[in-house]
Amino acid sequence: MKQSQMLIPTLKEIPADAEIKSHQLLVRAGYIRQIASGIYSFLPIGRRVLRKVEEVVRQEMEKIGAHEMMMSSLQPSELWKESGRWNTYGAELMRIDDRHEREFALGATHEEVVTSLIRDEVKSYKRLPLTVFQIQNKFRDEKRPRFGLLRGREFLMKDAYTFNESFESLDESYDKMFNAYTNIFRRLGLNFRAVIADSGQMGGKDTHEFMVLSEVGEDVIAYSDTSEYAANIEMAPVVTTYEKSTAALKNMEKVATPDQKTMQGVADFLGHGLEEGLKSIMFKVDDRFVMVVTRGDHEVNDVKLKNLYSADIVELASEEKTKELLGTGFGSLGPVDVPEEVEVVADLAVEMLVNVSCGANEEGYHYVNVTPERDFQVTQYADLRFIQEGDPSPDGQGLITFARGIEVGHVFKLGKFYAEKMNATYLDDQGKAQTMVMGSYGIGVSRTVAAIVEQYHDERGITWPANIAPFQVHLLSLNSKKEEQQQLADQLYDELIDAGIEVLYDDRKERAGVKFADSDLFGIPLRLTVGKRAGEGIVEMKERVTGNQSELEQSEILSVVSNWLKQ
Ligand code: ATP
Ligand code: MG
Repeated sequence: MKQSQMLIPTLKEIPADAEIKSHQLLVRAGYIRQIASGIYSFLPIGRRVLRKVEEVVRQEMEKIGAHEMMMSSLQPSELWKESGRWNTYGAELMRIDDRHEREFALGATHEEVVTSLIRDEVKSYKRLPLTVFQIQNKFRDEKRPRFGLLRGREFLMKDAYTFNESFESLDESYDKMFNAYTNIFRRLGLNFRAVIADSGQMGGKDTHEFMVLSEVGEDVIAYSDTSEYAANIEMAPVVTTYEKSTAALKNMEKVATPDQKTMQGVADFLGHGLEEGLKSIMFKVDDRFVMVVTRGDHEVNDVKLKNLYSADIVELASEEKTKELLGTGFGSLGPVDVPEEVEVVADLAVEMLVNVSCGANEEGYHYVNVTPERDFQVTQYADLRFIQEGDPSPDGQGLITFARGIEVGHVFKLGKFYAEKMNATYLDDQGKAQTMVMGSYGIGVSRTVAAIVEQYHDERGITWPANIAPFQVHLLSLNSKKEEQQQLADQLYDELIDAGIEVLYDDRKERAGVKFADSDLFGIPLRLTVGKRAGEGIVEMKERVTGNQSELEQSEILSVVSNWLKQ
């Protein structure tokens, strides 16, 4: 395609709102443009990349017998009410009314729609297992859309769904899907890991996330330094065994801690380590108010809290509500003498402590020499903290290390969660009605594009893997006023196209410097430059990633380029 006729608006300056490389480069190189917060248009070269990623995904889906379909984005609220998620999905679900004031959701995911379809259309065990997928825009009103394509409010997702007769059959479908994902992310050239994950809103059990390793990832992966174990930090159980302290018990005392609002401040003021203080945080768990107590050097893991209560929604209690319940704000909270409406739960480490400090539920005061059970009661001790680096790996092998990751894919065993709620049944070989067993599998296609750029760029621009680049070859004519340059470039362009090579031809009347800079920014793997030696039929070839250059005779160009692309 001719660059002079294509919409590729490049920018010299880094856009002010773009914090990370993929966002900066995709905007600067003219791949995407923002329309509103978290909402982007893909411009022509961006669309080409997106299609290539889609194509890899599509091929691997079809290889495992998944069939593509396309469901509607507009979804009647009735379906979401059947599953119960109309109430539990929260503010991320975009809701709209039609002219008859009927409520709809814009598809954030399609479990409800696909389950209603399959329950109506599939009646017999003979039709199972069944796998369908689609590649389609999803809508989620994210609280903090950011990082360009990484967290959008409208984004492209591949979502697949499996319907099985039994849990054993689901295991097989899941394994196939897992392998397909591994192939997809390998083919996309990504450095990734599959990690044990939380099932979040989806209600399932067994689940893995595919994480692209990257400093800008929002997720933290906890992995073993010696085994294959890897989990989202949200999910990694803490298997440390704590020893009960043998120190002699001292009497609890209230002491003034003027102006000390932080854990560290209080610990310093009282002259002890962080681990000798209790951290107390108020949560709203569905309709209850729960105080979660951990050791001062530990962090509360709200996913574990949510799972402990099988809750739909866990959030920090407001400071106002906290004051109403406990008579004081966040800086001075503690578990001693809390009112009945407040349930106290504590991390396992807390049970073993003696003579520690905690807030006195009075501004500017703390208790010291507090001992659990003697000085305060706990409804339940449970694993409620985040795993930390250096903790033993949950599989018993090695120690935990952290890495950051971008979640590009997620596979879940949903089990009967939706099928039961939505009454999706089939007749087994005895003619008896049975509930279907389901799985759900997502890939963030547009997010994956950004994740690729995070791993493939240098100081001059993007360095796409060849199979994902918008074009295979970038052909430049440096001076279109020179007849022989123009002619040779035109001729090469036709030859490359005839050979089935995807070529972008920079035929613009721009300075050579501008063309080179744009070319580096785009990241097309091979560049052919027709310049001064055009008269002799000599063209320069340069590899984008390595910077390796060579001069080629006109006659050998096609074969050299084709061979290079085949590798
Ligand atoms: P996250 O934890 O990042 O919010 P999620 O767990 O809500 O993601 P899923 O429901 O598992 O996401 O969706 C499947 C895939 O869709 C994710 O693995 C991710 O790659 C992609 N995805 C989810 N939310 C977004 C978003 N806001 N923008 C771009 N891609 C997204
Ligand atoms: Mg997820």
